[in-house]
Amino acid sequence: MGDVVYADNAATTKLDQDAFNAMIPWLLDDYGNASQSYTFARKQKKAIAEARNIIAECIGAEPEEIFFTSGGTESDNWAIKGVMDADTNASIVTSSIEHHAVLKACASVERQGNSVFYLPVDPKGIVSIKRCREFLSGSSIKLVSVMLANNEIGTIEPISEIASLAHEYGALMHTDAVQAVGHIPINVKDLQVDLLSASGHKFNSPKGIGFLYIKKGTSIKPYMDGGAQEFGFRAGTENVPSIVAMAVALKKNCSEMKENNEKLKRIESIFFQTLNQGNIDYIKNGSDNKIPGNVSLSIKGVSGEMLFHRLDLKKIFISTGSACDSQNTQISHVIKAIAVPSDYAEGTIRISFGKDNEESDAQTIASAIVDILKR
Ligand code: PLP
Repeated sequence: MGDVVYADNAATTKLDQDAFNAMIPWLLDDYGNASQSYTFARKQKKAIAEARNIIAECIGAEPEEIFFTSGGTESDNWAIKGVMDADTNASIVTSSIEHHAVLKACASVERQGNSVFYLPVDPKGIVSIKRCREFLSGSSIKLVSVMLANNEIGTIEPISEIASLAHEYGALMHTDAVQAVGHIPINVKDLQVDLLSASGHKFNSPKGIGFLYIKKGTSIKPYMDGGAQEFGFRAGTENVPSIVAMAVALKKNCSEMKENNEKLKRIESIFFQTLNQGNIDYIKNGSDNKIPGNVSLSIKGVSGEMLFHRLDLKKIFISTGSACDSQNTQISHVIKAIAVPSDYAEGTIRISFGKDNEESDAQTIASAIVDILKR
């Protein structure tokens, strides 16, 4: 990475070299439109089918249950709006720490007349199952949408438990797994979900590609109207290079997951050792059961924004909250929901290490933080 230290992998990841190589033929030579019936489109159709098989296998799904989208935001919007389908008698349960792609999609259906109930979380960021049962037993809930892993604090939610509860009350279960796919083992059957959102650029694929898993038999409206692509459910010319690259990257990340995650644990431990040697007063946010490499800290009496800019000057790239919120200097909804004490909350930063980081990056970042704070 030269003299740059990139540790914002929860915002986006570097494209994997093999995934990049796999894209090239589809960009330069075999560029035909996969939906055409001539022979110049045959290879493309086959490549899409193979990619669908690979992705399905990585998450324990059937190929016909994988629908390619433009990424996490579209998958979340489709799951929520497609299931609610202007049925104003139905309600949604979601959590207070979801990504804005889910929160704003819920707000949109709320404007159409649906009720939305927000689950509180405990100080580790784990959603309340008790409140979930109360909401489900009290109203006509059509959909429960709770993220698999939080993008700011990395906490992994008890999705299979929530899903079985949702099903007990006849609701469908959606999970935003954007931060989890390619990073922790995922099996849609074990999770018991009906819908699962994923985004390629969070697991070393190109940006602008993702998928929505839709369990066979789930009642959902098509999201994009137009051509007959994606079994008639998501119109638009297929992005063959990115679809192929996403399958290559996901398969590679899944097969190397154990080694990658062991390395990330070592990197995290070096980061904390170095920070502790500097006697920094901080709180570690999130649960111990979290996405490997995701570190959220709240440092006492410090401005996270100041730290972010000072690190930026040193070519160290991290985040103060979620990337999509980087314009926003307010304390994020997630940090508020987990009730970080007020003298720590403003000093919140997120460092998200990825498979391309080395142990030396952890040392560089922690030493730079200590150095900035000691001055
Ligand atoms: N959901 C979560 C949890 C995310 O972290 C993100 C991106 O940060 C998204 C959804 C949106 O994904 P995309 O950038 O692919 O639209």
